[in-house]
Amino acid sequence: MKRVYMDANATTPLLPEVMEAMRPYWMERFGNASSIHLDGQQAHAAVDRARATLAELFNCHDAEVVFNSGGTEGDNTAVFGLLRPGDHFITTAIEHSAILAAAERIASHGVETTFVAPQPSGLIDPAEIRRALRPETRLISVMLANNETGVLQPVEEIGGIAREAGVFFHIDAVQGAGKVKLDVRRFGCHLCSISAHKMYGPKGVGALFARRGTPVESLIVGGSHERRRRAGTENVPGIVGIAKAAELAMLSLEDGTIDRVVALRDRLEAGVLRLAGTGVNGALDDDRLVPRVANTTNIWFDQLEGEALVIALDLKGVAVSGGSACHSGATEPSHVLMAMGLNKTRARASLRFSLLKMAAEADVDHVLKVVPEAVEHLRAISPVAAGTLG
Ligand code: PLP
Repeated sequence: MKRVYMDANATTPLLPEVMEAMRPYWMERFGNASSIHLDGQQAHAAVDRARATLAELFNCHDAEVVFNSGGTEGDNTAVFGLLRPGDHFITTAIEHSAILAAAERIASHGVETTFVAPQPSGLIDPAEIRRALRPETRLISVMLANNETGVLQPVEEIGGIAREAGVFFHIDAVQGAGKVKLDVRRFGCHLCSISAHKMYGPKGVGALFARRGTPVESLIVGGSHERRRRAGTENVPGIVGIAKAAELAMLSLEDGTIDRVVALRDRLEAGVLRLAGTGVNGALDDDRLVPRVANTTNIWFDQLEGEALVIALDLKGVAVSGGSACHSGATEPSHVLMAMGLNKTRARASLRFSLLKMAAEADVDHVLKVVPEAVEHLRAISPVAAGTLG
């Protein structure tokens, strides 16, 4: 059976060039980057080259790049590394759990958090961030692109507000990296997290931009790796992998890939919206199009259970994600869609399609063939359609 993977926001495959770049660093170039002999020097040089590539991706100095284990660690580092008892933290209700759960934990250490709600379009209004400021606010954290809707947040404006207020600003750019140009100087942030596996690199490796002089404390202590900002023997193959992925990501921002993906996403979206009782989450703000990353669309389907549609599509060879997540065995509607004002039924009946950058016309054709079949079938047998499920 043909399989079409439309869950790129969950993770992406390695590009072959990334695999090839990493390969020697597991075998013949296995040295520890801290060793002073030739093997160590080779590993160290590879990490240095990778740092320069990441600095180009972020538009920062090499010394401002900290390699780590991914987006969760970067997000946690911003929260736990900067906030102290008595501080106030501003973030949004639509962040990834790596920020939300960190905010929850730090509440028991005397840090209060304001969760700014999005507008129904999924956009955060910078004026709401400004309104949330207090004299004791120390950190603002806002994502660049939302993982569920793809909506791009006005980080530059929020960066201006943080600068005026003298507050640190962290951006979770995990879903933005490789999809839009990063520029930490323009964004005006002090910290910025990215993750390799969302941009065709390996899992378990990421990078944090930490502006020079930002007093962020390391979460992991031990050796003096990464200028004492993140202890632990460097994951040299992973670091080489994220750098190759970053290099290819920068190229694909300029070679027409993004326009091609937008065209495919828009055709997919228009095709699905031909079905009755459907609509896009996070597309319009007073009839104006909201900026979104190229590869994502989040669509609601009336009269069905999203989870059932995810399973039905999987059986037909299509991998997508639903608008709900499993928490302690119960299926909870997405906190992002709920914060945007959807009711539980509609949030549960929403699906995220996120295209890989190598997606083909034939993939969209396949999805446009199987989605209507699956939706019609499920609606015919659905307890939601029959009105027996709330
Ligand atoms: N932030 C966002 C917006 C994400 O989408 C994800 C992953 O889904 C993360 C953080 C966590 O990244 P990682 O999987 O590298 O820990």
